[in-house]
Amino acid sequence: MSVQPIIIIGSGLAGYTVAREFRKLDTETSILIISADHGGFYSKPMLSNALATGKTPASILNASSEKMAEQLKMTIRPYSRVSAIDPSSKTVTLQGGEKLVYSKLVLAMGADPIRLPLEGEGAEDILSVNDLDDYQRLRDALEGKKDVTILGAGLIGCEFANDLTMAGYRVRVIDISPQPLGRLLPQAGGAFMQRKLEAAGVVFYLGAATRYVERIHESLRLTLANGEIIQTDIVLSAVGLRPRTALAQAAGIAINRGISVNRSLQTCYEDIYALGDCAEVEGRVLPFVMPIMHAARGLAATLAQTLTAVRYPAMPVLVKTPSCPAVVSPPDTSFQGEWLVEEDENGVKALFKSAEDKLLGYALLGASTKEKNALAAHLPAVME
Ligand code: FAD
Repeated sequence: MSVQPIIIIGSGLAGYTVAREFRKLDTETSILIISADHGGFYSKPMLSNALATGKTPASILNASSEKMAEQLKMTIRPYSRVSAIDPSSKTVTLQGGEKLVYSKLVLAMGADPIRLPLEGEGAEDILSVNDLDDYQRLRDALEGKKDVTILGAGLIGCEFANDLTMAGYRVRVIDISPQPLGRLLPQAGGAFMQRKLEAAGVVFYLGAATRYVERIHESLRLTLANGEIIQTDIVLSAVGLRPRTALAQAAGIAINRGISVNRSLQTCYEDIYALGDCAEVEGRVLPFVMPIMHAARGLAATLAQTLTAVRYPAMPVLVKTPSCPAVVSPPDTSFQGEWLVEEDENGVKALFKSAEDKLLGYALLGASTKEKNALAAHLPAVME
């Protein structure tokens, strides 16, 4: 047994799931989680679905850091930020200068919301929601307000649009793409989602780019590239996430879009691993819950001494838009094939098939979502 702990940087789903899976295999080795935030455990996907049902940050939090430490028999250092990693001495340095030695290091540092390079002093008032503290800030900002404009009609943008509308806010969504969920849905699926969200009250500005954000008293004024002006109380940005790689890069750990790891989630240093939103596993950045669960199980086995390659089955993603239930399993970009679409007023069933009639991906909306499990059984694994 090693005297130095396994150190995990990050207390999100990735950090906690690997700790939990590891404890099933090894009850002795010490584990230390270092987290820049409160260190409590919560389900992040709930954040884009919480306003309409009146969920507060306190009701979303499943367990405090103290409770997690007790449950998993480990140490947690909340509100502690790692400022440097030194692979040669196997130490991490905390902001403030304290150095800690690890036997193995797990990077589970998540991703940062992308901020559009917008002009105007109002740009700094734009909110984004990527953790529980952000959700509290959004709730505070919404106090007494009626009108929200969302930048980005992707998964998170559409989920917030639906949730805010159901919570009684007037919602506009701006996206440069001509359809919502442009990266996940074929055109017919995007159009169906748009119709359903519009019926719920959302107003879309598609094929539109935001240029300036000005602060006018209590509100913000957006100017679009076509000159159109939108006056709004709050701007919420949901234009995507960028893996947190700076700390790894400064330590000489290879990065690409995310922290580069092999199938065993190992970086270019033998004792340093990465998973979750910060990681790129053999070229794939998969910032979703299911890949984290699979990666955490594999990494726990590796940390408990058996080098284990991660395997990803097909992992369809549920879009949490109650006005338009949807499930998507986008085809890998390397696949050749075409979308075959059946649609009526109740739903869209879009199957991405190869020339040999093999199912390679799907997008199911409305009533067609009932076929999600039966069809998923025919999808190829994401990584065998
Ligand atoms: P995070 O949860 O971001 O955790 C990162 C941790 O690292 C944090 O504790 C942070 O404080 C810590 N940290 C970072 N840098 C440092 C440092 N230098 N020192 C110390 N600590 C540090 N996925 C789905 O599959 N389905 C969904 O429906 C879904 N809905 C979503 C809705 C929203 C609003 C969002 C934002 C995401 C959603 N996702 C969904 C994605 C999913 O929630 C994420 O993939 C997952 O939660 C990421 O977990 P993580 O542990 O990798 O990162």
